[in-house]
Amino acid sequence: QAKNAGRNTVCFFDPEMQAVVSANAALASDLRQAWRETQFQIDYQPQVGHDGQMIGVEALLRWKHPQRGMVRPDHFIAAAEETSLIIPIGRWVLDQACAQIAAWAHRQERRHLTVAVNVSVRQFRHPEFVDEVMSAIEQSGIQPHKLKLELTESLLADGIDVTIAKMGRLKAMGVTLSLDDFGIGYSSLSYLKRLPLDQLKIDREFVKDILTDANDAAIAKAVINLAHSLDLDVLAEGVETEAQREFLARQGCHSYQGYLFCKPLPIDELEAFMERLPVEAPA
Ligand code: C2E
Ligand code: MG
Ligand code: MG
Ligand code: MG
Repeated sequence: QAKNAGRNTVCFFDPEMQAVVSANAALASDLRQAWRETQFQIDYQPQVGHDGQMIGVEALLRWKHPQRGMVRPDHFIAAAEETSLIIPIGRWVLDQACAQIAAWAHRQERRHLTVAVNVSVRQFRHPEFVDEVMSAIEQSGIQPHKLKLELTESLLADGIDVTIAKMGRLKAMGVTLSLDDFGIGYSSLSYLKRLPLDQLKIDREFVKDILTDANDAAIAKAVINLAHSLDLDVLAEGVETEAQREFLARQGCHSYQGYLFCKPLPIDELEAFMERLPVEAPA
């Protein structure tokens, strides 16, 4: 009986635990195969500015599993981190994003577009990360500011000084830095002030019920005010309705992303979507 076992005894007979372990092992081995067989794809979701003009996209990883169909990143990023596969996969996303920026740079009406890439903690922590970003930029010949790296507050677990130093090297290269999912982490405001950031992204969690939940509305307002006082750009994610957008705009939000404008799309569908947009010369 596990109840009576000593503290250091391993309980071998927990069928539930066993199921979790083998599900994870299966996922890990599926992921390795997916990487070998290039089952990954990137969808792009538009980001829009205050008057609805498109300013860029976020690159979102998709796994096209031959049996399970499209698998969303929430279901496999953690496993990719645990198996270290996030390192080559993350490098691939970075290269694809830079190639996309380079392709758009040749087109007058697309040349201002930025591409945001999500960076996992494991990837950021990797000793070669900064060099990889550098080489991705050099190989594609892009203007570095068009590459936006989306970092999360969980990076701060590694220590503030190490994180700031690494972010500083990226900033020095001219890359744009955004803090993703802001509000759900644990970073203190005094830390935030020291990070060399360009943008805060308000998490969808606070946008969802912004019109009905006074606490969420207060948090969103506070994040927008904080961004203004730290002289940072602010983008709200998960904006699904015009009423949400209007509320955020009244609080001084500059930019948006969400189903209201467009869901994440494969590149050919995104190109078709952009063809239908009114052509506006960017300032
Ligand atoms: P995230 O970076 O916060 O990305 C935003 C998520 O919100 C995306 O989910 C997007 O599809 C979804 N979304 C956007 N607009 C709306 C909306 O109006 N309503 C709703 N309900 N959802 C919306 P997705 O694509 O499933 O990605 C989930 C998370 O996986 C991302 O959250 C990001 O943390 C991670 N992720 C995605 N791609 C990558 C990647 O290439 N590398 C790493 N490390 N993480 C990635
Ligand atoms: Mg993101
Ligand atoms: Mg986000
Ligand atoms: Mg989020």
